[in-house]
Amino acid sequence: MPIEGVALIRVSTAGQADESKAGIPAQREAVRRICQTWSINVAKEHHFELTDVSGASVLMSQDYQRFLQAVARQEITAVVTKEFSRLMRPERLDDYLIIQYLWDHGITLYTPEGKLDLSKPLDRFMATIRAGMAGMERLEIRQRMMDAKETMRRQGRHPSSPGTLAHGIGYDKKTGWFYKDDEIQIVRLLFQWFLEGEHSYERLAARSGIPRSTIRNLLVNPVYAGVMTYRTKHDLSPAGQYPQKKGKRAYRRKVARVGDEVIRVPLPPHLQPVITMEQHELIVELVEKMRFPRARARSIAIPRFTYRGYLRCGSCRQGVYSWVAGRRKDGSGKDFYYCKSRSPRERAKREASDELWVCENRYMIRSKLEDAIDHALVDHLAEPGFLRRIIDAHMQQDEEAAVVQQARALSLQLDRLAGKRDRVIDLYEDGNIDRFEKQLRLSKIDDQVDEIERLLSTLRSPRFEPQQIQQVVSVFAEWPFLGMDGKRRLMERMLPEIYVDCYAVKGVTLRLGCNNVNPPPEVAGEPPEHYGETPEVRPERVRRCVPC
Ligand SMILES: [Zn+2]
Repeated sequence: MPIEGVALIRVSTAGQADESKAGIPAQREAVRRICQTWSINVAKEHHFELTDVSGASVLMSQDYQRFLQAVARQEITAVVTKEFSRLMRPERLDDYLIIQYLWDHGITLYTPEGKLDLSKPLDRFMATIRAGMAGMERLEIRQRMMDAKETMRRQGRHPSSPGTLAHGIGYDKKTGWFYKDDEIQIVRLLFQWFLEGEHSYERLAARSGIPRSTIRNLLVNPVYAGVMTYRTKHDLSPAGQYPQKKGKRAYRRKVARVGDEVIRVPLPPHLQPVITMEQHELIVELVEKMRFPRARARSIAIPRFTYRGYLRCGSCRQGVYSWVAGRRKDGSGKDFYYCKSRSPRERAKREASDELWVCENRYMIRSKLEDAIDHALVDHLAEPGFLRRIIDAHMQQDEEAAVVQQARALSLQLDRLAGKRDRVIDLYEDGNIDRFEKQLRLSKIDDQVDEIERLLSTLRSPRFEPQQIQQVVSVFAEWPFLGMDGKRRLMERMLPEIYVDCYAVKGVTLRLGCNNVNPPPEVAGEPPEHYGETPEVRPERVRRCVPC
């Protein structure tokens, strides 16, 4: 009677699949011969061929899991594979559980070297040893590979993908290092512009066509001074592994090389460096100086801007940014809100595309504008007509209605839980449960309440019904007396967009729930000019944005 078995064929990468030695055809042939020798019958559905599953991560592969399921079947007593390492290359001790698993299911392992009956202690011992060897091989293979690549780098060769090289730099196994002519031309221009004083990454990117986010890295890369430098390496420690797709190959993060790990290789002399080493050092210093003030500003920023994120320009509808002015010696520096269109980056963009308009909104002192907004909100938000418009727009949304329904269902659940809570307390007071039991039950209910509250808050305040909106907005009577935290918490619920222009509030919208299309109503007297249309091209005005 033939033995019923499962066959396992595995290659770590798709590229290995047709390689002669470890490839799929060779493995199939070996499996066929083993089955013949030992009269093992492998049903078609028990023939597993896994591609792109590395031996170190077999347990995470779904296909491998299916293989393990097949092994667990009553009639299966054999696993056939070309080498032990097809089964696993253990990197972690729990990978050895596979052996335990095969043993538990009464499996005999068949390889070209013979069979291992895991129910026999000696064979089991052998299997463990072989698994250990397979694991060591894996580490050794990897280390050997890394060492070989490192040696090549030190010899001035480039074993990694050409895609890892800097702009304009190429490497070919036959011809070695070379410049990509068209790209290196642009790089030369870029450095020329930078050294001539053009320090705006935005404009450099626009002129060169190189992405802005690349410009800084490119400027500080010593390869353009003629020295190819490897400054990072893959982190081989367990912490370096990125989470990966099931059963696929792992990727590792890069970490800085330290000390003599940094490899510097001079490019061949026929490649004329783009800049000199002195120029390179100067540029590195400049770039660092440019980075410093912003990084510092970010690190010492104090949250002072109550309305940050909720303001829009009443003149051109763009966002409003906040700006912390440099502190004076007496500590009296000022903070500003200003229209996004006035930021240097936006200006540069417009200049690049020959747009000449400039927003007429001014830089607004933080404290003065916030005062103005506080009062405008009180005056206008509590106005019934305004509220009705907002509520109507809010309720008209079909999408919104669905969310409201969902929110209602959740609210009902909350009510039920509240009832449950009362009953638990009743039970305790009647002496039916002890204090401990009461606490246990209550904390369970509270967990559920927390979860529902969380869901409700992710629905973005759809539980606002007309009366509730009325209630929420009535808070505005107290608005000027609320602290910054209180204000911001409320705004998180209501998601207002407040349109400001030269210290006047031109309009307010509440994006309740997912309603983000209600038009900005006219609140403060004169309707804002540019609502609903894209800003027209207006002649450039020479007006400095003097803080008023
Ligand atoms: Zn503006």
